[in-house]
Amino acid sequence: MEKDTFRHQGMRNRLVSLLREKEIHSQDVLNAISQVPRHLFIDPAFESHAYQNKAFPIGAAQTISHPYTVAFQSQALECGQGSKVLEIGTGCGYQTAVLCEMGVQVYSIERQQELFKFAKKKLQQLNYLPKQLIFGDGYKGLEVEAPFDGIIVTAGAPFVPKPLLSQLRVGGKLIIPVGAGETQIMHMYIRVDEKTFKKKTFGEFKFVPLLEDKN
Ligand code: SAH
Repeated sequence: MEKDTFRHQGMRNRLVSLLREKEIHSQDVLNAISQVPRHLFIDPAFESHAYQNKAFPIGAAQTISHPYTVAFQSQALECGQGSKVLEIGTGCGYQTAVLCEMGVQVYSIERQQELFKFAKKKLQQLNYLPKQLIFGDGYKGLEVEAPFDGIIVTAGAPFVPKPLLSQLRVGGKLIIPVGAGETQIMHMYIRVDEKTFKKKTFGEFKFVPLLEDKN
């Protein structure tokens, strides 16, 4: 496996400064980003760009999210040590690793087998231990493990899947980019009680699409 060096740590420190300027203030999130070796989750050909605020291809026509996007969604969840979080779209596993580093108990679902296998191996190698990695369809959420303190969707959803709302605990938050086109608007749903959700919207983001189940 490739190495994590002082040079990489230096690049991460610069990335953390950049994220601070972009109003990422959660110390837990910044600490996690300064720890997780993002360059080990992407193709070595992109290594020199690993700590710039960029997205990259990760195989199966998918991308690793921008560091800012990962930081923004992680901060919005307001989760920490011991929180139970469901992630939809494991991809290469970078966001999963950031949440693990924050002490979150992570359940993550991926529908592309190639990426599911890659993330599983990579996270094990780096000693990030999510509670469960699931090969399946994220539109359904993970009923058997509900309720969750937070649910994070890392692909652009054409609509908000109902099961994800119903699998939040009261007080829990769903952070999801909504939009069927090239760009999406980041939405947050907070479960106020059994039947009521408070909705907030944030800026524009760009994700690969959340795809319907192919099985
Ligand atoms: N969390 C990743 C982002 C990966 S990109 C990161 O840290 O960079 C989004 C991922 O969502 C892709 O891997 C894609 O295959 C996956 N995806 C798309 N539709 C899905 C669905 N219905 N269920 C589960 N995963 C899905």
